[in-house]
Amino acid sequence: MKTWIPDSRKFAYLNWKQVEALPKQETLLVLPTAAIEQHGHHLPLATDTLINNLLLGNALEMLPADAPVYALEPVCYGKSNEHLGFPGTMSVSAATFMAVVRDVGASVATSGFRKLALYNTHGGNSSLVDVMARDLRAEFGLRTFALYGSGGVRYEGVSAQERAYGFHAGEIETALLLSATPDLVDQSAYTVNYIADVEKPETLLPENAAATFSWLTRDIAASGVTGDPRPATAENGALWTKQAAERIALALEAMLRWKDPA
Ligand SMILES: [Zn+2]
Repeated sequence: MKTWIPDSRKFAYLNWKQVEALPKQETLLVLPTAAIEQHGHHLPLATDTLINNLLLGNALEMLPADAPVYALEPVCYGKSNEHLGFPGTMSVSAATFMAVVRDVGASVATSGFRKLALYNTHGGNSSLVDVMARDLRAEFGLRTFALYGSGGVRYEGVSAQERAYGFHAGEIETALLLSATPDLVDQSAYTVNYIADVEKPETLLPENAAATFSWLTRDIAASGVTGDPRPATAENGALWTKQAAERIALALEAMLRWKDPA
């Protein structure tokens, strides 16, 4: 899998004597979680994992060289059952996903580390990551953190409709890959589909509302796309990568500085 994580930040490139010598109380380990799942006719199955590698790798490049932060290898298989029925989607159950994160967390604690951040870029994992960040704190006393997607950055120049409902293989994901891995984007195969209209607020929304309906992609988007990839440009992808990486780097630095109240 292509990655932008600097070699010097890869936990798995250390040997055990180097791990033993790390400052365990201060070191922050980051566990990326993503997916291998359909992303329409134009983006690869690995889109969420590539975006995770891209944004985290760029953020890690921005940290001071002596900041003790290492990226664990990603959990590439996520809970993607919303995308079942499309060839290529590899989904694990919620129980399996949580068990893997729990056992990696146990190994982090057993190795003597204290700080662990979960960095997730697949929406179907988000509620599980939230649960696991708390459970790892409770079960192992780890100082856990959860970090999602762009780190909260509002990407410039995205329409209100796309911002609300372009959440799968739409403009943002397409732009990020156009800038980072253009050979993996088939610009002749764009499809457009919106699950709801931002101009017509409904009582039941698909996401981010107090009252929602639970959707499967095959119910609402035959091509597998929810959003509009057509406005995506490599230039915006590069700009948004930089914006997100800066925000993620700030979050990682705050996690490094974090001290629990005595
Ligand atoms: Zn995606």
